[in-house]
Amino acid sequence: MPVASDTDGLAEAVGRSAEASEGDLPINELFRSLQGEGRLAGVPSVFVRTSGCNLRCWFCDSYHTSWEPTGDWYSVDDVLAAVDEYDADHVVLTGGEPLVHDASVALLEALADRGYHTTVETNGTIAVDAPIDLASVSPKLESSTPTAERDPKGDGEWADRHEARRLDVDVLAEFVERYDTQLKFVVTGPDDMGEIEDAVARVRDAADAPVPDDSVLLMPEGQTREQLTETRRVVADLALEYGYRYTPRLHVDLWNDAPGT
Ligand code: SF4
Repeated sequence: MPVASDTDGLAEAVGRSAEASEGDLPINELFRSLQGEGRLAGVPSVFVRTSGCNLRCWFCDSYHTSWEPTGDWYSVDDVLAAVDEYDADHVVLTGGEPLVHDASVALLEALADRGYHTTVETNGTIAVDAPIDLASVSPKLESSTPTAERDPKGDGEWADRHEARRLDVDVLAEFVERYDTQLKFVVTGPDDMGEIEDAVARVRDAADAPVPDDSVLLMPEGQTREQLTETRRVVADLALEYGYRYTPRLHVDLWNDAPGT
């Protein structure tokens, strides 16, 4: 079942105006780039990045959608108009956690009606019924939890909530059954592999659909080229050892940590 989908003061944080209606989406950024991760790495895509998340990974690479959410409120029609201005077949709905917003379903339905291929990048804790061509699900490991030592704000205030919410095997199984799904794990090092193996086994047990090894992706943790230099090779070796797929972070390789990429 879905976990709590509150966005923890998001409306105030992103300055929701009195004119913004219930069906609007808080948009952090909307831009065209190359998909950097996963099966469709390298494909030109329009990215719709919503603001707000129900988790707080310490290494979050979109800090201003989670730890300090910012953005402007757009109607679904305004998002569609902005997407239509780009010449792209692929749209990536990302965040933050886009599925905390009910309006994301309306947006996905409208994008499907227009013939776009849609990828949803999600942490896999909230089940939805929406037209999604590729569910790019990134289950969060214990190594993501913002303990006091790792919390970017330094107080560990989110650790318990994050830990309680971060992995929901039943919801992950729903994704696998309902959509073409890739399970993309952010890997900090070899110590993560036992938990990944356990999570994959539990999802396989729970789902009435297969989870092939090449739909399990290992992605090195790192938000800058410098950080990836330390983790890339380690994670590639782990992919070889365990038989899972390695995914690069092309956008970091190409543009480092520049926004809008
Ligand atoms: S789930 Fe994704 S968006 Fe949310 S805090 Fe973790 S990395 Fe950031």
